[in-house]
This record gives sequence, structure tokens and C-alpha cells, in this order.
Amino acid sequence: MSEPTSHPSPSSRPQRAPGGFPVVGVVGGGQLARMMQGPAVELGIQLSILAESDSAAAALVVPSSPVGDHTDLEAVRAFAASCDVVTFDHEHVPQDILQALEDDGVAVHPSRAALHFAQDKLAMRERLEGLGIACPRWTRATTAAEVTAFGDSVGWPIVAKTPRGGYDGKGVSIVSAADELADWLARVGEPGPVEGGLLLEEKVDFVRELAVLIARSPSGQAAAWPVVETVQTDGICTEVLAPAPGLDPDLASVVTEAALRIAGELAVTGVLAVEMFEVRARGAEGTEGTRGGRAAYVVNELAMRPHNSGHWSMDGAVTGQFEQHLRAVLDLPLGDPRPTAPWTVMANVLGGDYEHLYPAYRHIMARDPGAKVHVYGKGVRPGRKIGHVNVSGSDLAEARERAGHAADYLRGVITE
Ligand code: ADP
Repeated sequence: MSEPTSHPSPSSRPQRAPGGFPVVGVVGGGQLARMMQGPAVELGIQLSILAESDSAAAALVVPSSPVGDHTDLEAVRAFAASCDVVTFDHEHVPQDILQALEDDGVAVHPSRAALHFAQDKLAMRERLEGLGIACPRWTRATTAAEVTAFGDSVGWPIVAKTPRGGYDGKGVSIVSAADELADWLARVGEPGPVEGGLLLEEKVDFVRELAVLIARSPSGQAAAWPVVETVQTDGICTEVLAPAPGLDPDLASVVTEAALRIAGELAVTGVLAVEMFEVRARGAEGTEGTRGGRAAYVVNELAMRPHNSGHWSMDGAVTGQFEQHLRAVLDLPLGDPRPTAPWTVMANVLGGDYEHLYPAYRHIMARDPGAKVHVYGKGVRPGRKIGHVNVSGSDLAEARERAGHAADYLRGVITE
């Protein structure tokens, strides 16, 4: 493993293939960047990855993967200079670096302005509320007194979030009193995830979690996959059911329209995931999300990149999210997002006891020739997302069992 260097060396510049194909630069070398490589190869599009290390998940499969720090302006600039368009594996590139790239004339998708709302949950809440999109009741708090006042008004416990830098439930805390947030409150005002204050939200008594995944191109074309149900375990998405079983068709239309509207208003380019809670209607006056007192929704958060909730589409839709993201950031016509089976279930493989995954393939493939296994080339650590399994079929319960079995067997939590 080499140390990050601040300037990608000239030899790490992508070799351009004949045929006039573009180079898509991806900042960040995690599994999302890695999974763009399959469709990129098929389409003849070249990827180049600004990777955290030469053993990053994507660096293992993309020949042009210069190692560099995404918070180092000169490293990102040098990287972008050899790409036709720049997109992201994660949302952590600082705003001033994104601005510098745009000032240099680099095609950045999604743009700095759009990404702001995926990077900062307080900014996201303000903007969505301004658009009239249903959100949990929320506030910004910088003092214990403000925390107490909010909890007293919406009811304890409440959900506190660091506006920046959170993922997989890190940076989310359910609290019953202000003093449980003493550590975060002490850091308000210092540079970092709580610099501008904490985001406080009512604890939503949701029926289930939904995600709406869409793609939007710079020309404004958009395509939506069916709304899915996401199942979280300890703040990590462990299972996705596509489409969301039993979802009220009216609610499916309403949430899809909301996601398309968010994408248009925020000028998002590439894949956008809108994570939502399905809630029971609050009565006649309702919230923005209610439809005549029936099922309703509130938006949890936005992700502006391919997303865990869309992994099912790699095997269960005419166009998977990674191909669609490439099409979108290149402003190519979008592909058909329709599903190819009545149900597709995605089960995440979280790191377990087995360091070696490959020996499990013999059993999994013999037991279930229809299961589609994806692994990310990452070292096994407990709870770390290291792969996923997709199973499509006409029986939801059976697809869940098959996907779950393969994922559990890979993790080593079952042995037969
Ligand atoms: P992250 O950015 O780490 O993914 P999220 O904001 O998506 O954090 O929250 C992670 C999980 O915490 C959600 O999937 C949901 O299960 C739970 N959660 C978040 N906000 C709320 C809320 N206001 N009410 C109830 N549960 C919540």
C-alpha cells in the first residue's frame, strides 16, 4: 500500500482508448466507484479513480487509479485535468475544492451547489422545507437549552444528527435529555461536523423506510426506478425489497413526484436517492405528505450518487444504477429503469467471522444458480459492507429467503 501522494503522477493518467470515448473521473475509490466499472467496460467508457490508496475497492479493478487526497485541492485539480467529467463515490469533497474545479471549467456532476444539500443535513432540511416537501419536525440547536426546548415541544426522545460527515447511522443519536449531547454541543463552533449546530428531529414513528431512486441528466431528462423498501439493522441498510411490497400506488406516485421535483429544483445530476419514512396520516389537516388522510411520508435524507438502495437494479432492472449514473453524468439519453422481474431482493453482506469469502461460492452457486453475488474487494471487518446478493423472482418470500441465505452464508453466520 502506498501513502497518498498529493499529485497523481503523469504515468497514472488514463490511457485513452480509440473511438472518441470519454474519461469519467470518480473521486473516491469505494465500492460505488468499483461498481461503475462493469457498465463502463461494457460501454467502452473509461473510468479514472482518485483513490484513497492503491488497495481501495475501485483501485483494484480500474487501471487508472491515481492515489490522492480528496481534500487536497492540487491533487483533485491534477486528477480532474485528465478527465472529461468528474463525479463521486462519496459526498466528502469540500465545497471550496468543488468551486475551484467549476472555476477551472471542469464538468462536475453533481454540481457544487447541488452537493451542498447532500453534504449538510441542516441545509437540506431548510431547502426541502422551503420547497414544501414533507420533513420531520426539526430545528437547529447550538445550546442545551435549545435541545431541551425542542424535546419538550415535539416529545422525547428526539433524534440528534451531526449535519456533516455522517454515514450508516454514525452521527445519529437518539436522546432523552440534552445532557446526552454534551460532547457534540461542546464542539459547536469548532470546524467539523457540528460547526454550525446540531440538527434535531422528532423521532418519527414510521411504518417502514422507503427510498426513491432517480437519475437526472444535465439536459433535464429524468428516470425513476420503482420505490423500494429499505430494511436497516443498527443504522445500516441490510435488505432492500424492490418494489416496496403493498405500497399504496398513490403514495408511490406522490413520493416519486417529490423526488423528481427535488432533483429538478436542486439541479441534481447523476443518481439521486431520496430516503423516506412511510408514516401513518396525521389526520384531516395532515402534513404536506398526506393524501386525504391516507398513507403519508416524510423525507429523511438525500444522497447524490449511486446508493445502497439501488443495488438491486444491477440485476433487477433494464438499466442498473451504475450504468444510469454514467449515462446521466455524460448527458447521454437515460436507460429504461423498469424492473425485469416482479420482485428483486438485495441482501447486504456485512463482514462477519470469515476472512475468506471465495470458499463460500461453491455452496452458494450450487444451492442457488439464480442468486447474483457482488463483492467489493474490501477486507472483512465486523459490520463492514463487503458485498451484496440480488435475487429476482415472482415470490417475494422466497426471494428474501434465497438472498438472505446467500448473504448469511458468505458472512459465515450459517454453514449449510
Ligand atoms: P446516515 O446519514 O448515517 O445514513 P440517517 O439520517 O439516514 O443517517 O439515519 C440513519 C437511520 O436512523 C435511518 O435510516 C433511520 O432508521 C433512523 N432515523 C434517522 N432519523 C430519524 C428520525 N427523525 N426518526 C426516526 N428514525 C430516524
